[in-house]
Amino acid sequence: MTEILLYNTKTRTKERFEPLDPGNVRMYVCGPTVYDRAHVGNARPAVVFDTLFRFLRFVYGEDHVKYVRNFTDVDDKINARAAETGRPIREITDETIQWYLDDMAELGVLDPTETPRATAYVPQMVAMIEVLIESGHAYEAEGHVLFRVESYPQYGSLSGRTVDDMIAGARVEIAPYKDNPMDFVLWKPSHEGVPGWESPWGLGRPGWHIECSAMALELLGKTFDIHGGGNDLTFPHHENEIAQSMCACPEGGFARVWMHNEMLQVEGRKMAKSAGNFFTVRDLLDRGIPGEVIRFVFLSTHYRRPMDWSEKKRREAEATLRKWYGQAMHAKNGAEPDLAVVSALANDLNTAGAIAELHRLSRENDADGLRAGLHMLGLMGDQVPSWVADEQLSDEVLALVDRLLKERSDARAAKDFVRADALRDGFAAAGLIVKDTPDGVVWETSADFSPATLEALR
Ligand code: AMP
Ligand code: ZN
Repeated sequence: MTEILLYNTKTRTKERFEPLDPGNVRMYVCGPTVYDRAHVGNARPAVVFDTLFRFLRFVYGEDHVKYVRNFTDVDDKINARAAETGRPIREITDETIQWYLDDMAELGVLDPTETPRATAYVPQMVAMIEVLIESGHAYEAEGHVLFRVESYPQYGSLSGRTVDDMIAGARVEIAPYKDNPMDFVLWKPSHEGVPGWESPWGLGRPGWHIECSAMALELLGKTFDIHGGGNDLTFPHHENEIAQSMCACPEGGFARVWMHNEMLQVEGRKMAKSAGNFFTVRDLLDRGIPGEVIRFVFLSTHYRRPMDWSEKKRREAEATLRKWYGQAMHAKNGAEPDLAVVSALANDLNTAGAIAELHRLSRENDADGLRAGLHMLGLMGDQVPSWVADEQLSDEVLALVDRLLKERSDARAAKDFVRADALRDGFAAAGLIVKDTPDGVVWETSADFSPATLEALR
């Protein structure tokens, strides 16, 4: 079996991944809060963990991986959106969930095994909070229930901070009902106009963190293999999930491996509405950018590095994919993926390394390997995407390009620079971009590629 290495935020090392049960590998990833379209940054964890899900299914078998990604459908941002628009909460969350699923599907993101909505697990959250109160890890104050951070000495170990660091560094909410400013909310009272559930502490609603602990317990058990999310969630969200789950189920171990993707930026800057560089996945799709191109740009950067979305990368990704699909289109389906592609992914999901291997397979004209690799990365299903299939280079054109490239290198070898330069200029005029690299000649077609102009060069 393929040996997989994963970087574990908890131990700050790359570790050999050994699932508790290879017949049932279990992963939980924090999903979106559903009040608006997903921005491009939100899509990064969806694509990263989808790629991991696909890879785990490849290694352990399709039916042996359980992937849970939740929808946070109870949140003050959702309440605010309902108040602003006068629309019912359920209508907003249903609509946003469907948008999210549609947008992610365009990026080749498979449906996880389970996509629970937080509001369907309130009884489980209440039960967990009751256990925490009984065991002295939580207390009730003014209709709130708070987790007592001091009751869990390992608090802060995921992010490697002490409680004092955290107080200094975080915007902790100081509230009169808290024994300690770090204590966080498990349950809070509801009032007119916001959702509420009956509970031992009156009509109220859950705090954010408890939902993931309750859903992970219900769907994956007390100990499971991988927990993922963006690195903005490490503290406080994941720290709080660990504290709740470990105190409610001390006999369990909660998540064994913690994985965090770095943030996405736009043209080298943090994405923000105020910076005017904020856009959604749907904005990109509406501009006619194919989902595969977006996914390719994402996967070109390793998930633990900051990723930059740029127009230049988008253009390059499109040209590369166009060429690769052209090569892969006549290859057979279901070929075994190249070993080097598998090894790259097994090495802490090195998607950038896997893409480098696809470049090699393309140069070697290994169409079967290329196709299997594209499939492995979620960039190709049973067929090439329609945006390429409709404008495919025919076999004749591919043969013509090969012949003209060979002619150019022969002309150079024979020092016939007149002919070599004429070919170079002709390629440019035809929209054929030819580059000499240390590994040989690579080429791609630009958007205004003209086979007729190329034909005239013969
Ligand atoms: P939210 O809906 O804000 O809870 O975010 C959903 C997911 O998107 C979380 O896993 C976040 O860590 C992740 N996320 C938010 N912003 C970015 C970003 N700029 N880059 C990468 N991931 C992000
Ligand atoms: Zn979570």
